[in-house]
Amino acid sequence: MPRRAIRLAVIPGDGIGQEVVAQGLKVLSAVLPQDVKLETREYDLGARRWHATGETLPEAELESLKDHDAILLGAIGDPSVPSGVLERGLLLKLRFAFDHYVNLRPSKLFPNTPTPLAGRPEIDFVVVREGTEGPYTGNGGSLRTGTPAEVATEVSVNTAYGVERVVRDAYERANARPRKKLTLVHKNNVLVYAGHLWKNIFDRVGQEYPDVTTDYLHVDAATIFFVTQPERFDVIVTDNLFGDIVTDLAAAVTGGIGLAASGNINPTGAFPSMFEPVHGSAPDIAGTGKADPTATVLSVALLLRHLGYEAEAARVETAVTEDLAARDGVTRTTDGIGDALADQVRSLPG
Ligand code: ATP
Ligand code: MG
Repeated sequence: MPRRAIRLAVIPGDGIGQEVVAQGLKVLSAVLPQDVKLETREYDLGARRWHATGETLPEAELESLKDHDAILLGAIGDPSVPSGVLERGLLLKLRFAFDHYVNLRPSKLFPNTPTPLAGRPEIDFVVVREGTEGPYTGNGGSLRTGTPAEVATEVSVNTAYGVERVVRDAYERANARPRKKLTLVHKNNVLVYAGHLWKNIFDRVGQEYPDVTTDYLHVDAATIFFVTQPERFDVIVTDNLFGDIVTDLAAAVTGGIGLAASGNINPTGAFPSMFEPVHGSAPDIAGTGKADPTATVLSVALLLRHLGYEAEAARVETAVTEDLAARDGVTRTTDGIGDALADQVRSLPG
Protein backbone atom coordinates (compact mmCIF):
# COMPACT_ATOMS: atom_id res chain seq x y z
CA MET A 1 0.00 0.00 0.00
CA PRO A 2 1.63 3.31 -1.06
CA ARG A 3 2.40 5.47 1.95
CA ARG A 4 3.96 8.36 0.08
CA ALA A 5 3.11 10.08 -3.21
CA ILE A 6 4.73 12.37 -5.73
CA ARG A 7 2.28 14.61 -7.51
CA LEU A 8 3.99 15.43 -10.79
CA ALA A 9 2.80 17.86 -13.45
CA VAL A 10 4.04 16.87 -16.90
CA ILE A 11 4.41 19.30 -19.79
CA PRO A 12 5.71 17.26 -22.74
CA GLY A 13 5.48 20.28 -25.08
CA ASP A 14 6.61 20.22 -28.68
CA GLY A 15 8.69 18.11 -31.05
CA ILE A 16 11.08 15.74 -29.30
CA GLY A 17 9.78 17.06 -25.95
CA GLN A 18 7.00 14.46 -26.16
CA GLU A 19 9.43 11.66 -26.98
CA VAL A 20 12.04 12.37 -24.30
CA VAL A 21 9.51 13.01 -21.51
CA ALA A 22 8.00 9.57 -22.11
CA GLN A 23 11.44 8.06 -21.41
CA GLY A 24 11.97 10.24 -18.35
CA LEU A 25 8.68 9.01 -16.88
CA LYS A 26 9.60 5.41 -17.69
CA VAL A 27 12.82 5.71 -15.69
CA LEU A 28 11.11 7.61 -12.87
CA SER A 29 8.48 4.87 -12.45
CA ALA A 30 11.18 2.22 -12.53
CA VAL A 31 13.35 3.81 -9.84
CA LEU A 32 10.72 4.80 -7.27
CA PRO A 33 10.29 2.51 -4.27
CA GLN A 34 7.12 0.40 -4.10
CA ASP A 35 5.62 2.51 -1.35
CA VAL A 36 5.77 5.74 -3.37
CA LYS A 37 2.80 6.43 -5.59
CA LEU A 38 3.49 8.51 -8.71
CA GLU A 39 0.51 10.66 -9.65
CA THR A 40 0.97 12.47 -12.94
CA ARG A 41 -1.17 15.05 -14.66
CA GLU A 42 -0.36 16.01 -18.22
CA TYR A 43 -0.70 19.57 -19.52
CA ASP A 44 -1.21 20.28 -23.19
CA LEU A 45 0.87 23.45 -23.57
CA GLY A 46 3.14 24.68 -26.34
CA ALA A 47 3.01 25.35 -30.07
CA ARG A 48 0.14 22.96 -30.91
CA ARG A 49 -2.09 24.52 -28.24
CA TRP A 50 -1.19 28.04 -29.34
CA HIS A 51 -2.08 27.29 -32.95
CA ALA A 52 -5.36 25.67 -31.91
CA THR A 53 -6.55 28.22 -29.32
CA GLY A 54 -4.13 31.16 -29.22
CA GLU A 55 -3.41 30.34 -25.56
CA THR A 56 0.06 30.04 -24.04
CA LEU A 57 -0.53 29.53 -20.30
CA PRO A 58 -4.08 30.29 -19.14
CA GLU A 59 -4.49 31.41 -15.50
CA ALA A 60 -6.53 28.33 -14.55
CA GLU A 61 -3.73 26.03 -15.65
CA LEU A 62 -1.11 28.16 -13.91
CA GLU A 63 -3.17 27.82 -10.73
CA SER A 64 -3.55 24.06 -11.06
CA LEU A 65 0.18 23.60 -11.77
CA LYS A 66 0.82 25.03 -8.30
CA ASP A 67 -0.90 22.03 -6.82
CA HIS A 68 2.03 19.68 -7.56
CA ASP A 69 5.32 18.66 -5.97
CA ALA A 70 7.29 19.28 -9.16
CA ILE A 71 6.99 19.79 -12.91
CA LEU A 72 8.71 17.80 -15.66
CA LEU A 73 8.96 19.65 -18.96
CA GLY A 74 10.14 18.36 -22.33
CA ALA A 75 10.62 21.27 -24.71
CA ILE A 76 8.54 24.21 -25.83
CA GLY A 77 8.82 25.92 -29.19
CA ASP A 78 8.40 25.53 -32.90
CA PRO A 79 9.59 27.64 -35.85
CA SER A 80 5.92 28.18 -36.81
CA VAL A 81 5.34 30.29 -33.67
CA PRO A 82 6.68 33.87 -33.69
CA SER A 83 9.82 34.24 -31.60
CA GLY A 84 9.11 35.31 -28.02
CA VAL A 85 5.44 34.23 -27.87
CA LEU A 86 6.07 30.93 -26.07
CA GLU A 87 9.32 32.04 -24.38
CA ARG A 88 7.69 35.02 -22.67
CA GLY A 89 4.08 33.77 -22.57
CA LEU A 90 4.86 30.35 -21.17
CA LEU A 91 8.43 29.65 -20.05
CA LEU A 92 9.30 33.01 -18.48
CA LYS A 93 5.75 33.39 -17.16
CA LEU A 94 6.15 30.14 -15.26
CA ARG A 95 9.62 31.06 -14.02
CA PHE A 96 8.42 34.38 -12.62
CA ALA A 97 5.08 33.09 -11.28
CA PHE A 98 6.80 30.26 -9.39
CA ASP A 99 9.80 32.42 -8.47
CA HIS A 100 12.33 29.96 -9.88
CA TYR A 101 15.29 32.02 -8.78
CA VAL A 102 17.82 29.19 -9.00
CA ASN A 103 18.47 27.79 -12.43
CA LEU A 104 20.64 24.76 -11.78
CA ARG A 105 22.77 23.29 -14.57
CA PRO A 106 25.23 20.54 -13.74
CA SER A 107 28.06 19.85 -16.18
CA LYS A 108 29.84 16.57 -16.05
CA LEU A 109 32.02 14.82 -18.58
CA PHE A 110 30.85 11.20 -18.49
CA PRO A 111 33.14 8.36 -19.57
CA ASN A 112 33.09 7.48 -23.25
CA THR A 113 31.26 10.64 -24.33
CA PRO A 114 32.64 12.95 -26.99
CA THR A 115 34.32 16.21 -26.00
CA PRO A 116 36.10 18.67 -28.26
CA LEU A 117 38.66 19.22 -25.48
CA ALA A 118 42.07 17.61 -25.75
CA GLY A 119 43.24 15.23 -23.04
CA ARG A 120 39.77 14.57 -21.59
CA PRO A 121 40.00 16.80 -18.51
CA GLU A 122 37.99 16.00 -15.37
CA ILE A 123 34.85 18.09 -15.69
CA ASP A 124 32.31 18.02 -12.89
CA PHE A 125 30.84 21.37 -11.96
CA VAL A 126 27.46 22.95 -11.47
CA VAL A 127 26.29 26.39 -12.55
CA VAL A 128 23.84 28.24 -10.33
CA ARG A 129 22.30 30.78 -12.69
CA GLU A 130 20.07 33.52 -11.26
CA GLY A 131 16.62 33.03 -12.78
CA THR A 132 14.40 36.03 -12.11
CA GLU A 133 16.45 39.19 -12.58
CA GLY A 134 19.17 40.63 -14.81
CA PRO A 135 18.10 41.62 -18.32
CA TYR A 136 15.22 39.09 -18.32
CA THR A 137 12.60 41.09 -16.44
CA GLY A 138 11.20 42.82 -19.52
CA ASN A 139 12.26 46.19 -18.14
CA GLY A 140 13.06 48.33 -21.16
CA GLY A 141 11.56 49.69 -24.29
CA SER A 142 12.00 51.16 -27.70
CA LEU A 143 11.67 54.80 -28.72
CA ARG A 144 11.19 55.99 -32.30
CA THR A 145 10.79 52.33 -33.25
CA GLY A 146 11.62 51.48 -36.82
CA THR A 147 13.15 54.86 -37.58
CA PRO A 148 16.84 55.53 -38.14
CA ALA A 149 16.82 57.21 -34.71
CA GLU A 150 15.48 54.18 -32.84
CA VAL A 151 16.65 53.80 -29.24
CA ALA A 152 16.22 50.46 -27.44
CA THR A 153 16.94 49.73 -23.78
CA GLU A 154 16.94 46.39 -21.98
CA VAL A 155 17.57 47.18 -18.34
CA SER A 156 19.40 44.68 -16.16
CA VAL A 157 17.64 44.53 -12.79
CA ASN A 158 19.73 43.43 -9.79
CA THR A 159 18.29 43.64 -6.28
CA ALA A 160 20.19 42.97 -3.07
CA TYR A 161 17.36 40.59 -2.13
CA GLY A 162 17.54 38.69 -5.41
CA VAL A 163 21.33 38.47 -5.52
CA GLU A 164 21.71 37.46 -1.89
CA ARG A 165 19.25 34.59 -2.07
CA VAL A 166 20.88 33.01 -5.12
CA VAL A 167 24.42 33.57 -3.80
CA ARG A 168 23.40 31.95 -0.51
CA ASP A 169 21.96 28.96 -2.37
CA ALA A 170 25.24 28.59 -4.29
CA TYR A 171 27.29 28.67 -1.06
CA GLU A 172 25.04 25.96 0.39
CA ARG A 173 25.57 23.78 -2.68
CA ALA A 174 29.35 24.39 -2.67
CA ASN A 175 29.56 23.61 1.04
CA ALA A 176 27.82 20.27 0.46
CA ARG A 177 30.27 19.15 -2.25
CA PRO A 178 33.66 17.56 -1.57
CA ARG A 179 35.75 20.33 -3.17
CA LYS A 180 33.81 23.20 -1.59
CA LYS A 181 34.80 25.81 -4.14
CA LEU A 182 32.57 28.62 -5.39
CA THR A 183 33.40 30.92 -8.31
CA LEU A 184 31.50 34.14 -8.97
CA VAL A 185 31.31 34.98 -12.68
CA HIS A 186 30.41 38.55 -13.63
CA LYS A 187 31.90 41.54 -15.42
CA ASN A 188 32.42 44.03 -12.62
CA ASN A 189 35.19 45.93 -14.39
CA VAL A 190 32.63 47.26 -16.87
CA LEU A 191 29.19 46.58 -15.37
CA VAL A 192 30.24 48.40 -12.23
CA TYR A 193 26.91 48.93 -10.48
CA ALA A 194 25.50 45.43 -10.84
CA GLY A 195 28.98 43.90 -10.65
CA HIS A 196 29.83 45.51 -7.33
CA LEU A 197 26.46 44.61 -5.84
CA TRP A 198 27.16 40.96 -6.76
CA LYS A 199 30.77 41.02 -5.56
CA ASN A 200 29.98 42.75 -2.25
CA ILE A 201 27.18 40.32 -1.43
CA PHE A 202 29.32 37.37 -2.56
CA ASP A 203 32.12 38.46 -0.18
CA ARG A 204 29.80 39.23 2.73
CA VAL A 205 27.81 35.96 2.56
CA GLY A 206 31.10 34.08 2.12
CA GLN A 207 32.11 35.02 5.67
CA GLU A 208 29.40 32.63 6.86
CA TYR A 209 30.99 29.75 4.89
CA PRO A 210 34.62 29.60 6.07
CA ASP A 211 35.12 26.12 4.54
CA VAL A 212 34.24 27.29 1.03
CA THR A 213 37.12 28.50 -1.14
CA THR A 214 36.06 31.41 -3.33
CA ASP A 215 37.19 32.76 -6.68
CA TYR A 216 36.06 35.57 -8.96
CA LEU A 217 36.28 35.61 -12.77
CA HIS A 218 35.15 38.08 -15.39
CA VAL A 219 32.78 36.27 -17.75
CA ASP A 220 35.11 36.63 -20.74
CA ALA A 221 37.99 35.05 -18.82
CA ALA A 222 35.62 32.35 -17.57
CA THR A 223 34.78 31.29 -21.13
CA ILE A 224 38.50 30.75 -21.79
CA PHE A 225 38.85 28.59 -18.66
CA PHE A 226 35.77 26.53 -19.61
CA VAL A 227 37.83 25.35 -22.56
CA THR A 228 41.42 25.45 -21.26
CA GLN A 229 40.98 24.51 -17.57
CA PRO A 230 37.43 23.29 -16.90
CA GLU A 231 38.71 21.26 -13.95
CA ARG A 232 39.16 24.48 -11.97
CA PHE A 233 35.39 24.81 -11.52
CA ASP A 234 33.25 23.24 -8.81
CA VAL A 235 30.22 25.50 -8.26
CA ILE A 236 29.72 28.69 -10.28
CA VAL A 237 27.22 31.42 -9.43
CA THR A 238 26.34 34.01 -12.03
CA ASP A 239 23.67 36.33 -13.34
CA ASN A 240 20.81 35.35 -15.63
CA LEU A 241 22.32 36.30 -18.99
CA PHE A 242 25.92 35.22 -18.32
CA GLY A 243 24.53 31.95 -16.98
CA ASP A 244 22.53 31.35 -20.14
CA ILE A 245 25.62 31.71 -22.29
CA VAL A 246 28.21 29.86 -20.20
CA THR A 247 25.93 26.86 -19.65
CA ASP A 248 25.56 26.30 -23.40
CA LEU A 249 29.35 26.40 -23.63
CA ALA A 250 29.55 23.97 -20.71
CA ALA A 251 27.12 21.61 -22.49
CA ALA A 252 29.21 21.78 -25.66
CA VAL A 253 32.41 20.65 -23.89
CA THR A 254 30.70 17.85 -21.94
CA GLY A 255 29.16 15.70 -24.62
CA GLY A 256 26.60 18.03 -26.09
CA ILE A 257 23.07 19.12 -25.74
CA GLY A 258 21.66 15.56 -25.61
CA LEU A 259 23.12 15.17 -22.10
CA ALA A 260 22.53 18.60 -20.48
CA ALA A 261 19.98 18.64 -17.64
CA SER A 262 18.54 21.57 -15.74
CA GLY A 263 16.27 22.55 -12.90
CA ASN A 264 14.32 25.77 -12.41
CA ILE A 265 14.19 25.74 -8.67
CA ASN A 266 12.36 27.56 -5.94
CA PRO A 267 14.44 26.41 -2.96
CA THR A 268 11.85 27.66 -0.45
CA GLY A 269 9.33 25.08 -1.68
CA ALA A 270 6.64 27.78 -1.89
CA PHE A 271 6.01 26.73 -5.50
CA PRO A 272 6.83 23.59 -7.46
CA SER A 273 10.23 23.49 -9.13
CA MET A 274 10.50 22.54 -12.79
CA PHE A 275 13.01 20.17 -14.37
CA GLU A 276 13.84 20.01 -18.07
CA PRO A 277 16.54 19.14 -20.59
CA VAL A 278 18.49 22.18 -21.77
CA HIS A 279 17.83 21.38 -25.43
CA GLY A 280 14.84 22.59 -27.44
CA SER A 281 12.14 20.82 -29.42
CA ALA A 282 14.57 19.91 -32.25
CA PRO A 283 11.97 19.87 -35.06
CA ASP A 284 14.70 18.60 -37.41
CA ILE A 285 14.74 15.18 -35.71
CA ALA A 286 11.23 15.03 -34.19
CA GLY A 287 9.47 11.77 -35.01
CA THR A 288 12.64 10.01 -36.19
CA GLY A 289 13.50 8.26 -32.90
CA LYS A 290 16.94 9.90 -32.95
CA ALA A 291 16.43 12.15 -29.91
CA ASP A 292 18.66 11.21 -26.98
CA PRO A 293 16.47 11.14 -23.83
CA THR A 294 19.51 11.17 -21.50
CA ALA A 295 19.26 14.91 -20.70
CA THR A 296 15.66 14.39 -19.62
CA VAL A 297 16.55 11.34 -17.54
CA LEU A 298 19.32 13.33 -15.82
CA SER A 299 16.74 16.08 -15.20
CA VAL A 300 14.60 13.44 -13.51
CA ALA A 301 17.58 12.72 -11.24
CA LEU A 302 17.69 16.43 -10.29
CA LEU A 303 13.95 16.28 -9.62
CA LEU A 304 14.33 13.24 -7.36
CA ARG A 305 17.17 14.88 -5.41
CA HIS A 306 15.13 18.07 -5.01
CA LEU A 307 12.25 16.06 -3.54
CA GLY A 308 14.57 14.28 -1.12
CA TYR A 309 14.99 10.98 -2.99
CA GLU A 310 18.79 11.08 -2.91
CA ALA A 311 19.40 7.33 -3.25
CA GLU A 312 17.05 7.12 -6.24
CA ALA A 313 18.70 10.17 -7.87
CA ALA A 314 22.11 8.56 -7.47
CA ARG A 315 20.82 5.33 -9.00
CA VAL A 316 19.54 7.15 -12.07
CA GLU A 317 22.92 8.87 -12.47
CA THR A 318 24.77 5.58 -12.10
CA ALA A 319 22.51 4.00 -14.73
CA VAL A 320 23.27 6.86 -17.13
CA THR A 321 27.02 6.60 -16.46
CA GLU A 322 26.98 2.85 -17.14
CA ASP A 323 24.78 3.20 -20.19
CA LEU A 324 27.06 5.85 -21.71
CA ALA A 325 30.14 3.77 -20.96
CA ALA A 326 28.57 0.82 -22.79
CA ARG A 327 27.62 2.79 -25.91
CA ASP A 328 29.92 1.66 -28.67
CA GLY A 329 28.95 3.81 -31.60
CA VAL A 330 25.86 1.68 -32.24
CA THR A 331 22.95 4.02 -32.90
CA ARG A 332 20.03 3.45 -30.58
CA THR A 333 16.54 4.83 -30.61
CA THR A 334 14.96 7.19 -28.09
CA ASP A 335 12.82 4.32 -26.84
CA GLY A 336 15.76 1.90 -26.79
CA ILE A 337 17.80 4.19 -24.53
CA GLY A 338 14.79 4.80 -22.26
CA ASP A 339 14.15 1.05 -21.94
CA ALA A 340 17.81 0.33 -21.23
CA LEU A 341 17.96 2.99 -18.50
CA ALA A 342 14.72 1.78 -16.90
CA ASP A 343 16.05 -1.81 -16.84
CA GLN A 344 19.35 -0.56 -15.45
CA VAL A 345 17.79 1.32 -12.49
CA ARG A 346 15.71 -1.73 -11.67
CA SER A 347 18.78 -3.96 -11.55
CA LEU A 348 20.94 -1.61 -9.46
CA PRO A 349 20.90 -2.24 -5.73
CA GLY A 350 18.35 0.06 -4.08
P1 ATP B 1 15.41 26.25 -28.82
O1 ATP B 1 15.29 27.57 -29.46
O2 ATP B 1 14.10 25.62 -28.46
O3 ATP B 1 16.42 26.20 -27.72
P2 ATP B 1 17.31 25.38 -30.68
O4 ATP B 1 17.10 25.96 -32.02
O5 ATP B 1 18.33 25.94 -29.80
O6 ATP B 1 15.93 25.28 -29.95
P3 ATP B 1 17.42 22.55 -30.26
O7 ATP B 1 16.00 22.18 -30.43
O8 ATP B 1 17.97 22.50 -28.90
O9 ATP B 1 17.65 23.90 -30.98
O10 ATP B 1 18.33 21.67 -31.22
C1 ATP B 1 19.63 22.08 -31.63
C2 ATP B 1 20.28 20.93 -32.39
O11 ATP B 1 20.59 19.87 -31.49
C3 ATP B 1 19.38 20.34 -33.45
O12 ATP B 1 20.13 19.99 -34.60
C4 ATP B 1 18.84 19.09 -32.81
O13 ATP B 1 18.55 18.07 -33.72
C5 ATP B 1 19.93 18.68 -31.84
N1 ATP B 1 19.35 18.11 -30.61
C6 ATP B 1 18.68 18.78 -29.64
N2 ATP B 1 18.28 17.97 -28.67
C7 ATP B 1 18.71 16.73 -29.00
C8 ATP B 1 18.60 15.43 -28.36
N3 ATP B 1 17.97 15.24 -27.20
N4 ATP B 1 19.17 14.39 -29.00
C9 ATP B 1 19.81 14.54 -30.15
N5 ATP B 1 19.94 15.72 -30.79
C10 ATP B 1 19.40 16.81 -30.23
MG1 MG C 1 18.50 26.89 -27.81
